[in-house]
This record gives sequence, structure tokens and C-alpha cells, in this order.
Amino acid sequence: MFNQKIVASLAKSSMIRAMFEAGAKLKAQYGEENVFDFSLGNPEIEPPVPVQESLKKYVNSATPGLHYYMSNAGFEDVREKVAAHLQKKSGAPLTKDHILMVCGAAAGMNIALKALLNAGEEVIVLAPFFVEYLSYIENADGKPVIVNTEKGTFHIDVEAVKRSITPKTKAIILNSPNNPTGVVYSRESLENLRTALEEKEKEFGTSIFVLSDEPYVSIVYDGVEVPNMMSVFKNCVIIYSFSKSHALPGERIGYVAASSRIDDVGTLMGAMITLNRTLGFVNAPALFQKVVAENLDVAVDTAFYQENRDILYNHITSVGFECVKPSGAFYLWMKSPIEDDVAFCQTAQKYNLLIVPGSGFGCPGYARIAYCYGTEMIKRSLKAFTNLAKEYGL
Ligand code: PLP
Repeated sequence: MFNQKIVASLAKSSMIRAMFEAGAKLKAQYGEENVFDFSLGNPEIEPPVPVQESLKKYVNSATPGLHYYMSNAGFEDVREKVAAHLQKKSGAPLTKDHILMVCGAAAGMNIALKALLNAGEEVIVLAPFFVEYLSYIENADGKPVIVNTEKGTFHIDVEAVKRSITPKTKAIILNSPNNPTGVVYSRESLENLRTALEEKEKEFGTSIFVLSDEPYVSIVYDGVEVPNMMSVFKNCVIIYSFSKSHALPGERIGYVAASSRIDDVGTLMGAMITLNRTLGFVNAPALFQKVVAENLDVAVDTAFYQENRDILYNHITSVGFECVKPSGAFYLWMKSPIEDDVAFCQTAQKYNLLIVPGSGFGCPGYARIAYCYGTEMIKRSLKAFTNLAKEYGL
């Protein structure tokens, strides 16, 4: 009776639903403070003070037209500020005409994919991946092609990407710093990827677009460099979100930036602006466009996340788990001590630990721990990780 594809996809999302339900049950049984919920990437910290101040200013402002409909691309002055900010970072020439304000990265990804893909064209997704990518590609009638990252390090396996490229390849999605691994791709590996893409573009006479999904780009540790993707790739579309960098996930604000080096970039921008309207977003929230434009150089205090990372990483590895040390984002990617990662995460619930099986990210045998929560909860959880390790004889 209803849309069969969507109804069938409900079963796939049951893993996260089951986790929610298990969490609610544990919290009712043991009390909120005795359950260690690391399941969602929902930052527990408040937006930075300058962001809060800008918001108060605009809420109290009597500027006429602040809440009107506007161009589907967003406020001109906001797009000018974003373009200038990105131009400084990338060194690439950009104007407001390369910027579209959107309702977060989720909207931006859907818009960019739909603007680029003809039905049946392929999009390379590197595993493990943010699982929503598969739905976004399907929404645009595209076909995901999943390529594993390098075993153990989760860096880009350039040769594997190259082998997966066909005449139908339209795009590759990159997400660095990465959810769920915390890996940041090095300039060298991105340049190798560029060479591989260029070789294949030449061979097939095609253009392959790099969709750089960047919600975590300002959350990095130990001074690690996050190369600007526009400075590396010609056919680059950046999808940025303020959900994590400014702790504003509920406000739905981000932007899409298309490189000025893309051939016929004006048509691509026109398509994306139209899609912002026809997909039903119409325009990004007016108030928050103004707020973020004043705070482009502001970000949450990464020292908070770094402390959480250090406490958790040091403890988890000291009790015997294997884990990639994250260079960015706020996730730990831990190897399951048994092959069945779903069973492992179920066992973790015995100790009131809620962690997400790697299968949910296209990478069985691992589990993801989101550490964007209060440091006190993380400290209280350590004993549970010790007991979990003991259960597996580590
Ligand atoms: N991309 C990645 C890798 C994410 O982790 C998330 C959210 O967790 C999103 C996109 C969606 O972010 P937004 O809130 O901006 O839609």
C-alpha cells in the first residue's frame, strides 16, 4: 500500500531503533546516571558564547525583513562572508555565487547528489561510512559502490578506489575527519587519490566529483592538518555543517560550496539552488544564517573532546581492546574481540554500555563509541569497559 522501498528500509534502521529502546529500558531500570550511552553523535556541550550572543542579538533585533522569504540560495551578505572565509582557507577564488546555505549537511548531501546524478550513476562510498549516505544516494536514483578503506588504519585505499571506477562513476564521498573512525586523511593520500581520479577521468572521458562532507573539519587533535579539499580537487563540492563545530545540530544550518574550477559551475549552482526549493527546504533558517555568518572563525572547544578522547582511549587500550587513536571528530572505532559485533554490543549492554555495532557502518567486526558526552559520565563508565574486557578474557 505504501512506498515499498521505504517500508523495506524500515527494517534496516531497526538496529539504531533497537539501541534506543534498549537504552530507554536500561535507564528506567538502573537510573540515568548508571547507564553509559555512547550511541549517538549528539554533542552535549552548549554552542560557544559568541554564537549565543549573536543569537540573542538577532532575536532582539527589529531589522525589517529578517524573517521574510528570501532567495533560495540564502542571504547575499551571509554567502559573501562564507565565500570570503573559504577563499582564505582554500586559496581558491570564490564568490557568493559558489555558496548555497542549507539545512545542515543532510540537506546539502541530498541536494548535491540530486544535482549531479542521472539515474543509475555510481557514487563511491568508503567503508566504514555514515550510513545515511546510502539513503541519500538512493534518493537521487544513484547506485552506491562501497570500497573498503585500508585494513586496520582506515585510510583511503587508493588502488581499491581506482579499481572500482567505471564509466558510470559520477562522484566519490569523502568525510575527513571521519565518522565513525576519527581518521583524518593526509594531503599525500588525497593527492594520490586525485591522480587516480584524473587517470580514470581521462580513460573514460568523464568527470568525477568529490563530495567532501565536512561536519567535523574543525574538531581535530594534536595539531593534525586537515587539507582543504578545494585546494586538492578540481571538481570539488564541500558540504559543511555547523551541527558539530558550533554544537547546533537541532537548528539545521550548513552550506554547500562548489569550486569555481568546476566546468559550468553556474549551472550546477542553479540546479542546487532550485533543488533547495523543490526538495522542500526552500531556504536555510534565516536567523541562523545570520548567526553563523558572524561566527565562521568560532568553534567549540576541542580541548573538551580531546580530554574525553584521551581518558577513553587510554583506558580502553589499557584493558586490552584494540582501537584506532582518533585524530579528529568525536568517535572511537574499536575492534570487537569477537567476529560478531552485534553480539559484542549486546554483551556490552550487560554493563549498561551502549555502543553501536560496526555493521551499522558497513564494517562488521568493530564498534563505534561516540564521546561527545560529559567527561564525568565517561569517567564513571570506565569500570564497565574493564568488566567488558574481562568478560572476553583480555
Ligand atoms: N555527515 C556525517 C559524517 C555526520 O556524522 C552527520 C551527523 O552526524 C551528518 C553528515 C549530518 O549532519 P547534519 O546535522 O548537518 O545534517
